[in-house]
Amino acid sequence: MNQPKQKQPITSLWDDEKAATMSEPELLLYRSNLLGSDLRITNFGGGNTSAKVMMDDPLTGDKVEVLWVKGSGGDLGSIKLDGFSTLYLDKLHALKKRYRGLEHEDEMVGYLPHATFNLNPRAASIDTPLHAYINKKHVDHMHPDSLIAIAATANSRALTEKIFEGVLGWLPWKRPGFDLGLDLEKLSTEQPHLKGIILEGHGLFTWGDTAKEAYETTLAIIKRAEEWLEANIAQPVFGGQKHQALPPAERAAFAAKLMPLLRGKISKTEYKLGHFEDSDTILEFVNSADLAPLAALGTSCPDHFLRTKIRPFVVDFDPTRPDFDAVAAGLDDALEAYRADYTAYYNRCKRDNSPAVRDANPIIYLIPGVGMLSFAKDKATARIAGEFYVNAINVMRGANGVDKYVGLPEQEAFDIEYWLLEEAKLQRMPKPKSLAGRIAVVTGGAGGIGQAVAKQLLSEGACVLLTDIDGGALEEAKSALAKVAGKDNVATITGNITSEEQVEAVFTESALRFGGVDLLISNAGIASSAPLEDTTVEVWDRNQDILVKGYFLASRAAFRMMKTQKLGGSMVFVASKNGLVASAGASAYCTAKAAEIHLARCVALEGAPLGIRVNVVNPDAVIKGSKIWDGKWKQERAQSNKIEADDVEAFYRDRSMLKRSVLPEDIAEAVYFLSSDKAAKSTGNVLNVDAGNAGAFTR
Ligand SMILES: [Zn+2]
Repeated sequence: MNQPKQKQPITSLWDDEKAATMSEPELLLYRSNLLGSDLRITNFGGGNTSAKVMMDDPLTGDKVEVLWVKGSGGDLGSIKLDGFSTLYLDKLHALKKRYRGLEHEDEMVGYLPHATFNLNPRAASIDTPLHAYINKKHVDHMHPDSLIAIAATANSRALTEKIFEGVLGWLPWKRPGFDLGLDLEKLSTEQPHLKGIILEGHGLFTWGDTAKEAYETTLAIIKRAEEWLEANIAQPVFGGQKHQALPPAERAAFAAKLMPLLRGKISKTEYKLGHFEDSDTILEFVNSADLAPLAALGTSCPDHFLRTKIRPFVVDFDPTRPDFDAVAAGLDDALEAYRADYTAYYNRCKRDNSPAVRDANPIIYLIPGVGMLSFAKDKATARIAGEFYVNAINVMRGANGVDKYVGLPEQEAFDIEYWLLEEAKLQRMPKPKSLAGRIAVVTGGAGGIGQAVAKQLLSEGACVLLTDIDGGALEEAKSALAKVAGKDNVATITGNITSEEQVEAVFTESALRFGGVDLLISNAGIASSAPLEDTTVEVWDRNQDILVKGYFLASRAAFRMMKTQKLGGSMVFVASKNGLVASAGASAYCTAKAAEIHLARCVALEGAPLGIRVNVVNPDAVIKGSKIWDGKWKQERAQSNKIEADDVEAFYRDRSMLKRSVLPEDIAEAVYFLSSDKAAKSTGNVLNVDAGNAGAFTR
C-alpha cells in the first residue's frame, strides 16, 4: 500500500561519490529517480524534472544549450535516460514569437517537435515550456501531498507567505501549458531570490544551480511543509469520527461480496477490474463526519481527478447495522444518479469542440466502516486510481486542517478532463487486447498446462488467479509470470480443489483481488493406473474427488459469481482423451474423466440462458512440464505399454495420427480460443488436442 510514512523525516539520499562520476544528463536521471521513488515527494507518474546542458550540436558541431526534460508518460521513480526529451533551448525561446495568446495555447504543443535536439524520439510533454522558461539550470516540478494541501486552501497565497517566509513565490491556478510557462519565467526573473514557486491547486516548482542543490532544495521545502502541517493541523480531522471500522476480516468479506455485484453494473460497455484498500488513512476519511460534503467537493490537483474522476461515489452503508442486501438493493438507483450527475456536468461544461462524453460510471467507491474500492479498465490503473485518491485524502486532511479546502472550479476540471490534448493521448493508446478486463481463475495453476494457459491468457490481457495445492510451485509460477505480465495481473492462492471451503476461498480471493470472475479454467489433475482388480477404493475416491467433485465445486462457485455479475462467462474443463476413449488398466481415471466431460455439458445447459459457455479441451500425453507425468504415472504407463520410461514421449508421439508431441502451449492455445469471444457461439463442445487419435473422434 502506498502509505506515506509521515513519521520518518524526508532525508537526502544524495551520494557525492556516486554523483562525482556522472555526466549532467546522468545527474538529472539520478536526481529524478531519487525524487520519484518517494511517494511523499511526488505521486505516481506525477511531476517532472529538467536540466539545461551544453552539448555538441550534431549538425554544426557548435556548443548549444539543450533542455533535458522528462518526456510524455512514464514515472520519475523508474525513468531511464530515454524517458527524457531533448530540445534546443534557443528554439524554445524563439517560439514565444509564435504565441497568439491563451485562446490559442494548445497549438504551441505542435511546435515542440520542431525544437527536438539530436532526433530524440521521446515526445515532449505539455509541461516543457514550464521548465524551459524558468531561468535556472536545474528545475524540479513535484506534486507532494503536503504542498498541494497548502496550494488547495482558500488562503493559499497568504499561507505560502507565512510558512515559507518569502522563499517561495505563488501563482494563481492556471492550466499547465505555454502561458503558465511565461508566468513562471516572469516571476522567477523578477524575484531572483526565490527558491521556488507554489502553483495554486496544483503543485511545486523548485530549482538550483546544480543537480544536488535542486534536489536538496526540493526536499527542504517539502520537509518544511510537512513539519508545518503536522504542527498546525487542527484535531479532530474531517469533523471527527462518525463510524467505527468493521474488523479487518469483515471489511474484506464485505468488499469481496460487493465487488462482483458492482463490477457487473459498471462493466456493460467495457470490462472493469477492481481494487480494494482499507489503510488507516482511508478508514479515517470514510469513517469521518465530513465524508459526504468533502467527497462532493471533488479533488483538486489535475493529476488526482484525471485518475479518479471529478468526484467519488459514496456507498450508502451504515457499519453499525451491516445489511448487505439493503446496500445491494439501493445500488442501481445510486449509480444511475451518479451517472446522471456526471452527464449533467458534461453538458454544463462542454464546449463546441469537446470530445464525446466518456464512461459515466464512478472510479472511486468509498464505503463507511469498510474502505475504498476503485475500478478501471485494467488492474494497474484501478490500483493507481486508488493511490491517487489517497493523495487527495491527504490533501483534504492538510488543507481543511489548517484552513479551508477548495476543489478546482468545475469548468477548469472539465477543461482538463476533456482537454483535446488529453483526448489525443487517449486516441494514441493501443487497442485493448482480446481478453482485456477479464478475470481468469486457473486451477492446477502450478503445473505445466496450468502455467502455459495462464501465460497465454495474460498475454491476451486477462488477469489471472492461479490456485494449486502445491504452494511452493505456485509461488515459482507467480514470479515467472509476473516478470512477463506485471505484478498487478497475477495472483495466487494455495488450495485443495476437493474442499468446498477452500474452493469458496479461491473465488472470494478472485473477487477481492480483481473484482469477480469471467473465465474458469478447471485444470487441476491427477492420474492413476491399475487393473480393475487392483484398483483400491482409495484410488477410486481420489480420482472422483479431484476430477469430478473438484470440477463440480469450482464450476458451481464460478457459476454463482458469474450469475451475480450478469456479464456471462466462459468455463473450460481440461479433461482427457481418456474421457472419451476407454483405456485398459486405468478405469478409475477414465471414468472420472468421462464424468468431468459430462459435467461440463450439464453446466453448459444451465449456463446458456446466462451467457455462460462451458467447453472441454481434451489433451493426450502432454508430457513436457507435467507434474503428473513426472511421477508414478509415467512408470505405470511405461509398464502397461511394455516400454522403458524414457521412451514414453516417443511412444505416444509415434502412436498419434500426426506423429507429433503435444505440448502445454498447444493446450493453452485451445483453452484461449474457447475462453475468448472468438468462441462466443460455442458451448458444450469438446476440442481434442491430441495430435490425432481416431478413437477420440467425437460424434
Ligand atoms: Zn504538475
